[in-house]
Amino acid sequence: MPTIQLIKGDITKQAVDAIVNAANTSLLGGGGVDGAIHRAAGPELGFECRMLHGCKTGDAKLTKGYRLPAKYIIHAVGPVWRGGHQGEAELLASCYRRAIEIASENNLTSLAFPNISTGIYGYPKDKAAAVAITTIQQCLEQPTSVQTIFFVCFEVDNFDLYEQRLQQ
Ligand code: ADP
Repeated sequence: MPTIQLIKGDITKQAVDAIVNAANTSLLGGGGVDGAIHRAAGPELGFECRMLHGCKTGDAKLTKGYRLPAKYIIHAVGPVWRGGHQGEAELLASCYRRAIEIASENNLTSLAFPNISTGIYGYPKDKAAAVAITTIQQCLEQPTSVQTIFFVCFEVDNFDLYEQRLQQ
């Protein structure tokens, strides 16, 4: 039975099969967690990302982890929050689903997620936590190689929201 674990910390430090990046459609790096991942992984990550020619919102692409303790990075592109009526919830759910699919295709067993879209992209944190947890729980009911999911919260308010929801 796969498990979900909650961590307060920095996703670039996690020694898992893959960490998920909250990337943008260019996949060429940015601010927030994306910038932190590119800095920690080193310039080779940028070179590989350039070969991928971007990624659509709601989709994800795999690269190596380079200098990270994680073996791989799954770059997922979350939606920008535009008030909630532009398909944001479905696009955010799709990021989590695609990350699990890609992990399964590559036989990965441990996966760490940041709180996609809740920084610069402005998705309300409580709503994003609900989408993330529900989607992951649904994915783990299907056959998958993934055995452990870590939600890595950088901010205490996200950590508290996840803790409350996961206890329910
Ligand atoms: P987005 O553009 O998808 O909103 P951000 O990087 O701005 O992406 O924020 C996504 C989440 O990642 C935010 O909750 C932010 O606090 C968090 N974050 C920022 N740096 C790190 C890090 N090093 N490890 C884990 N989470 C991080």
